Amino acid sequence: MIFKPPLVQTIINFLLPPQCALCREITKQPYTLCSDCWLKLKFITSPKCSICCVPLENVDHDMPCADCLKFPPIFSKAYAPLVYNDSVKKLVLRYKNYDGLHLGPMFLQWMQRSIPQDIHIIVPVPLHWWRFFTRQYNQAAELGKLIAKHTNVAINPNLLKRVKATASQGRKSKFLRYENLKDAFVVRDTKNILKKSNVLLIDDVLTSGATANACAQVLLYAGAARVDVLTIARAVKDNHGTP
Ligand SMILES: [Zn+2]
Ligand SMILES: [Zn+2]
Repeated sequence: MIFKPPLVQTIINFLLPPQCALCREITKQPYTLCSDCWLKLKFITSPKCSICCVPLENVDHDMPCADCLKFPPIFSKAYAPLVYNDSVKKLVLRYKNYDGLHLGPMFLQWMQRSIPQDIHIIVPVPLHWWRFFTRQYNQAAELGKLIAKHTNVAINPNLLKRVKATASQGRKSKFLRYENLKDAFVVRDTKNILKKSNVLLIDDVLTSGATANACAQVLLYAGAARVDVLTIARAVKDNHGTP
């Protein structure tokens, strides 16, 4: 059966045709990319690290990567549908800096297949209040709301607070990233909701894992049973962007 969009949608599509989210070429469906830009995305498939989701080479199944074996992360497991490359970087920057909230449903389409099971509560990585004030919204919280609606799992954007305005993590060494984030987050859980809960932490991109680890540390300390991380994309070492 051929899908027929409702008349109103047909009129809207005629007046304001949907565009590719990257190059703005006209597309048939909203919230998608044109075929050329679609080819620029790199979806993460097995073999990948069974902990941090980084793609692996020269093995035939998922297993912990060398970094995770050497420095096991504090969070349990990271999930991401995409490798963080220049195209994804462009989309993520638009989403968080230029009022690109309409890109949310497209990210959800990609992320929905990576959502782990048995999650009790969704917690977005918070922005410091000053950054929130200048940006008007927190992209991680917006993604979290979409995931919460899709999974029917409660979201709590106020449990975790960022109490230290941290400089951009972009070009810092691993050690400096951790130092930069020391004491950056606190948990305010007056109703004890975190106790024995499996938490899904949401962010836009997982780079070194320093932010996710800093959040996981305080969430676990406050009683969470497990903290998993879900992002749009996972940076790999050769292509370290600056989210
Ligand atoms: Zn395009
Ligand atoms: Zn790993």
